[in-house]
Amino acid sequence: MITIQNNDGDRRVLLLDSPFALDESPDFPEYLFDVIFITNNSPKEAKAILSSINPVTSTKCCYKPLFVSSSLKGKMGNHDEIIDGYADDMNSMEVMTQIENIINYNTLIGLSATEDPILSSNQFFIRLTRYLISRKKTILEPRLEVSASTGYVIPVFDLFYRLGHYELSDYFVFMQSMTEKGLFRATKFVNKVYLCPNCLHSHVLHIQTCPKCGQSSIQTEEVIHHFRCANVSPEHTYNFGGQLRCPKCHKVLQHIGLDYDRPSIIYTCNTCGNTFIEPKSKTLCTSCKKTFNSEELIPQDFNIYEITSEGKQSIISPNIGFTIYTEFYDNYIEYNRLISRIRLLAEQKFSGNIQGDLLVGKIWILDADGITTSIRPEVIELVCQYFPNNKVSAANNITYVGSVIREYKGTDTEEGIINFQVMLSETIRAALPILNPGEKICYTYMKLQGNQSTIDDFIKDMGFISPTPDDSFEYNEKNS
Ligand SMILES: [Zn+2]
Ligand SMILES: [Zn+2]
Ligand SMILES: [Zn+2]
Repeated sequence: MITIQNNDGDRRVLLLDSPFALDESPDFPEYLFDVIFITNNSPKEAKAILSSINPVTSTKCCYKPLFVSSSLKGKMGNHDEIIDGYADDMNSMEVMTQIENIINYNTLIGLSATEDPILSSNQFFIRLTRYLISRKKTILEPRLEVSASTGYVIPVFDLFYRLGHYELSDYFVFMQSMTEKGLFRATKFVNKVYLCPNCLHSHVLHIQTCPKCGQSSIQTEEVIHHFRCANVSPEHTYNFGGQLRCPKCHKVLQHIGLDYDRPSIIYTCNTCGNTFIEPKSKTLCTSCKKTFNSEELIPQDFNIYEITSEGKQSIISPNIGFTIYTEFYDNYIEYNRLISRIRLLAEQKFSGNIQGDLLVGKIWILDADGITTSIRPEVIELVCQYFPNNKVSAANNITYVGSVIREYKGTDTEEGIINFQVMLSETIRAALPILNPGEKICYTYMKLQGNQSTIDDFIKDMGFISPTPDDSFEYNEKNS
C-alpha cells in the first residue's frame, strides 16, 4: 500500500509498507510529497525498502525527512544512519518539529529534491555528503567493524558500499581530493592500516614462510651455545635420551647461564628442511584470495574528517568546485594519483607480479608557433569517453591515458599495443573540431622498459612532449 496523507502541520507524508519502484513510478512525482514514512514492522523488509527509497540515492526522496515504525528502533543496523526518526504518529509534536527543522534547514541552505539520477561514484559521494550536511552530520568518523571491507569504515558510507554504490579505490580518491581541495579536513588521526594492493580490503592474513621454498609449515627451535667448546647448534642436536649433552665435546650440560645459554631461535622448514634465522612474511587477502609480499600492502591512514564551512558551501552549490570532467567521468584522476599508480604498477611489473606492458599515452595541442597550448576540458572529456576503462589525467599541457596490456599464456602484447595506438589516433581525430586555426593535435605513447632503476626516468619523461609524435592532425576548416 502506498498513499499520501497530510499531517497536522500540512506536510504531505508518503506512507508505504512494501518495496515499490518509486523513482520509476509516474503516479508519484517528486513534488507531491514532503516526507517519507515506512510503516512496515519487519527490519528485513524495511531495509529492502530503504535500499531504493532513501534520502540519498532516490531521485524523488533526496534530503526529505524519512521515518520508520517505532517497533524497528534499535533493529536497523547501519540503515539507522539514513533514518530521521522512529514513530507511529505523524502528528506527534516531536515528529512534526523534526520534519519542520529538516525542511526549513534544507530551504535555508538551498538543498532541493530535484536531483538527476546517480551515474557515477563521484555523483553518489556528492549526494551523500549533501545529505550529511542537510542533517548537520559534518563529522565523519571511521569505526572498527569486523565485517567491513576496510576494517575502519564510516558507517553511512559503508551502508552504501554494501549496496554497491561505489568502489573502494573511488572512495579513497574522493576522500583525498576533498581534503586536497580543503572541503574536508582531517581533525584527528585514528590509525594507519595496510590494505590489500589488489582489492584494498583490510582483512589479510599474515603468514610466515620458508625463504627457500615459500611454504608456511615451519617450526622454531632454540639454539644452544656450549661455552666450554663454543659449539652452537639447535637444541635437538643436544638431546640424548632426555639429557642435554653437547654434540661436539659430549659433556653433559649443567646450568643455563653457567656453562651454556640459548642465544637465539632458529626456524626449520618442514617441507624442504631448510633452516633459517628470519622467515619471510607474506600476506593472504581473505577477500580476493591473492598472496602478496608484506611490503606490497598499501598503507592507508584513517582519520576523523570534518566537512569544512567552505566544503559545506561548495558541496551544496550546483557547480561544485569539481570541473565537469571530474564530476562525470570516474576514470579521471589527479596527476599525482596517476604518477603513484604508474609507480606502483611499474614496481609490480619489475617484481614479476604483473605480466605485460605498461603504456602511457600522451595527447597535446601545438599552436601555430609550435608551442603547447593549455589543457582543454573538451580533450579530457573525449579521452575519458574513448578510454572508459583506463585512468586519464592531465598536467604539463598534456592529457594522459595509462594502460596495462596484459600478457596471457602463449600470447604477446603486440595486438594490445596496436589497439591502444589506434584508439589514440581515433581520439585525436575526434578532437579536430576543438582546434583553432593553425593548431595541431598530436599523440605519442611511452612503453615502460628496463628495470626498477628506470622508473624515475620514465616518470620524468612523462612531463615532456615528443618532437616526433606517432600521429597528428592539423586544423582544417572543414572540421570546425
Ligand atoms: Zn622450505
Ligand atoms: Zn661442547
Ligand atoms: Zn585482496
